[in-house]
Amino acid sequence: MAALDLMPAPLGLLAELTHRCPLGCPYCSNPLALDKRDDELETALWARVFREAASLGILQVHLSGGEPAARRDLPELVKAAREAGLYSNLITSAVGLTAKTLGALAEAGLDHVQISIQDSDEPSADHIAGYKGASARKRALASEVVRLGLPLTVNMVVHRANIGRVEQMVELAQSLGASRVEIAHVQYYGWAVKNRAALMPTREQVDEAVRQVEVLRARHHGQIVIDAVVPDYYARFPKPCMGGWGRRSLNVTPAGKVLPCHAAEVIPGLEFWNVREHSLAEIWRASPAFSAFRGIGWMEEPCKSCSRRELDFGGCRCQAFLIAGNARAADPVCHLSPHHTLVEQLAAKREDAAYSYRSS
Ligand code: SF4
Ligand code: SF4
Repeated sequence: MAALDLMPAPLGLLAELTHRCPLGCPYCSNPLALDKRDDELETALWARVFREAASLGILQVHLSGGEPAARRDLPELVKAAREAGLYSNLITSAVGLTAKTLGALAEAGLDHVQISIQDSDEPSADHIAGYKGASARKRALASEVVRLGLPLTVNMVVHRANIGRVEQMVELAQSLGASRVEIAHVQYYGWAVKNRAALMPTREQVDEAVRQVEVLRARHHGQIVIDAVVPDYYARFPKPCMGGWGRRSLNVTPAGKVLPCHAAEVIPGLEFWNVREHSLAEIWRASPAFSAFRGIGWMEEPCKSCSRRELDFGGCRCQAFLIAGNARAADPVCHLSPHHTLVEQLAAKREDAAYSYRSS
């Protein structure tokens, strides 16, 4: 018990219920090797995970994927989250989720819905999603969410093809009845690494989008909350990835592996424990992957002696590995990193190539 007492308590659980998804977004953060349907955790096992999460002090579960509605037992899973006392947020593409199922989810106790929208321009949105008619379905489901009285967040993933329409995207979110819109710049993990040159905006585009967000925040103050952060490759300092490794949240994959962040499997040599063999509390406390970069003891210079080391925890370990080839290095996004020029080179590499769509 003593070790757990010293340990930070997690606040959030990302439950990746399935990797199946009808869309093919070229920036999808799911791994290139997707978990198979036959390996997905059963309903009862997810229910146990939710109860264990609540006992650990977790308050919120994000039901994610893939597309969570690809699971027929989604209403049962929402009910299990409610019975465990968790606030449930459904992160959905809205494609494959019918109004009837949404009604069943509301009845089962769903607390919040987040719908991803690819663009305010419909043909462009369908092109980005790799699915004709996706945009119309998303808009229809958003009105159903509002009709049912569920709070709605619209998530807009921004990249070179749509960054010039931030204003229209915020207006669309507002017209759909969202109380919050997230302007989420692509993060380069999973499928986005494959499509990096096709997705990367220019510095001028990013600066203009940042300026636009400030104007929009003032214009829509009190009507809609606008969340936005500067995209990694154009920031001076990295973000505290996941609020610090093993400090705030857990991510359970469709097959039950527990990760400190959704991209952690890219780091070679990490040992992830599975909820089939261990309780969530054991995994949080003792799994080798969670212990690997928890706190600041693992750091190398320049992070080791940096005054920001407990603010950003050295940034993202996955990005450090993917770009600098060393998961203990400072996130190369940081201008103090000896590898920062690699980020500048990647940001300058832009090609108008066809997307490599995520496969199912
Ligand atoms: S990012 Fe797109 S492809 Fe990936 S899970 Fe979400 S909706 Fe599906
Ligand atoms: S050197 Fe490390 S701790 Fe300091 S700002 Fe950069 S990433 Fe953060």
